[in-house]
Amino acid sequence: MRSLIDIKDLSVKELDELCKTACDIIKHPKKYAHACEGKKLATLFFEPSTRTRLSFTAAMMELGGNVLGFSEATSSSSAKGESVSDTCKVVSNFADIIAIRHPKDGAGLVAALAANVPVINAGDGMHAHPTQTLADLLTIYREKGGFNNLTIGMCGDLKYGRTVHSLTLAMSRYKNIKLVLISPKELKMPDYVINDIIKKNHMKYKEVTSLEDNIKDLDILYMTRIQRERFFDQKEYERLKNSYVLTVDKLKKAKKSLRILHPLPRVNEISVKVDDDPRAAYFRQTLNGKYIRMALILKLLALAKKNPKKEPLYDKKKVRYDLKCKNPRCISGIEQEHEHKFVPTNKKGEFKCIYCEQKH
Ligand code: ASP
Repeated sequence: MRSLIDIKDLSVKELDELCKTACDIIKHPKKYAHACEGKKLATLFFEPSTRTRLSFTAAMMELGGNVLGFSEATSSSSAKGESVSDTCKVVSNFADIIAIRHPKDGAGLVAALAANVPVINAGDGMHAHPTQTLADLLTIYREKGGFNNLTIGMCGDLKYGRTVHSLTLAMSRYKNIKLVLISPKELKMPDYVINDIIKKNHMKYKEVTSLEDNIKDLDILYMTRIQRERFFDQKEYERLKNSYVLTVDKLKKAKKSLRILHPLPRVNEISVKVDDDPRAAYFRQTLNGKYIRMALILKLLALAKKNPKKEPLYDKKKVRYDLKCKNPRCISGIEQEHEHKFVPTNKKGEFKCIYCEQKH
């Protein structure tokens, strides 16, 4: 049995297979209409969501399965103080697979450790959002025909936006990818992404502040929302919120073959007038999200059937218990049963929190 906590849990081969299954589902939906009959998906959403939760729901329904769950923390026992672990242990008795979203970094791993069924991380704080990345990848695959030789602009809130962190990791495995990281200095890509993903994989990249000056070079423009809910200082959010707005005028300089992606929701980053441009792929991306989640549910349920024993989620032999995670958003230490746990990284003398992956 396997869970999906981070996009790196899937090999490049598996990503290709998921995209191919999704394309087959698009072509032959009837073939899959009863594939999950008798199975239940639990959607445990402790944080707001439209696309992710509803696309998981639609995905399971279109596979012939059923869905149960909640869409806000206040309507679950977490409002009474129940932990994520206990919630997932309980829900494992009712469902065959769980999709969970939670505001704390590392909540997906906590859920997978506690549950006896496969867990899909549907977004944990600012840490990761692997199924959004699957939707992004299927969109790139369908719009561009493949993943190599692309110049990808990521624009907006690269600091708090979990989708760009997961997408960078995914793209680091393909050939000849150039990243143009467009953000205000205050919201630049975190150092751990630059050092541990971009530099480590020898990706070409540049960090810039102007969208206008760089749009002409791009094959993909991945716009993001400034993540208001993750700012500790709301005045800072107000100052930065309209840093980038993609307009019809700015697009005049872009290639005809450009594709514009956005994980959505959009607040003000893309003018609605851009929606009619054939290069605007963000609503198609949402639909792709449903198909790839169907492919993922099929894969994880098939693996669980083949081998119900849980695969290890971290290397228990290498854990250190004497370090404390300093990330205030990390789930470790918040729930009584989670000791702080660190494992070595590839860099000598460096350790990372197993939950949120912050370094020590
Ligand atoms: N829907 C995406 C997420 O959950 C992007 C966003 O909220 O800005 O991370």
